[in-house]
Amino acid sequence: MTWLPDALRQEVEQMLRAGASDLAVHRQTGVARATVARYRKALGLPGYHTTADSPACRHGHPFPQHLGRNEKGHLICLECKRIRVRKKARANYTPVQPDEVAIQRAAAGDPPDRLTPRERAAAIRQLDRRQLSAAVIAERVRCSRRTVHRRRAAA
Ligand SMILES: [Zn+2]
Repeated sequence: MTWLPDALRQEVEQMLRAGASDLAVHRQTGVARATVARYRKALGLPGYHTTADSPACRHGHPFPQHLGRNEKGHLICLECKRIRVRKKARANYTPVQPDEVAIQRAAAGDPPDRLTPRERAAAIRQLDRRQLSAAVIAERVRCSRRTVHRRRAAA
């Protein structure tokens, strides 16, 4: 068993006996979850099981504010679901790739009617490498000189 200072061990035991989940104890005390689990086992307490009567889900989101049901009618934690949905959305996000042709056209002085900020910045960068003045770049890309200066400052 991992050695813990008496005060910390007592806090862990007290929280476990009060019905807190391993994760809740870990977040409150900073003790590793595996260590908390070992203390739970040593105390002979059953694993944490979330029910509608629990004070919180096993991740510590308080009930009943976050208590909901899924489409099958099973109890779920709505906050945990929100976190999962946001994580999935972040994982699936891919920024729109800039159009190479549009960048080349803008650099050549014939920009399409609409350029995305990313494409405009790429065209400005390309012309900037040819040591052109801000006024010339602005005319070719058809943006203001201020935009050129701002892109230069950002690069
Ligand atoms: Zn939760």
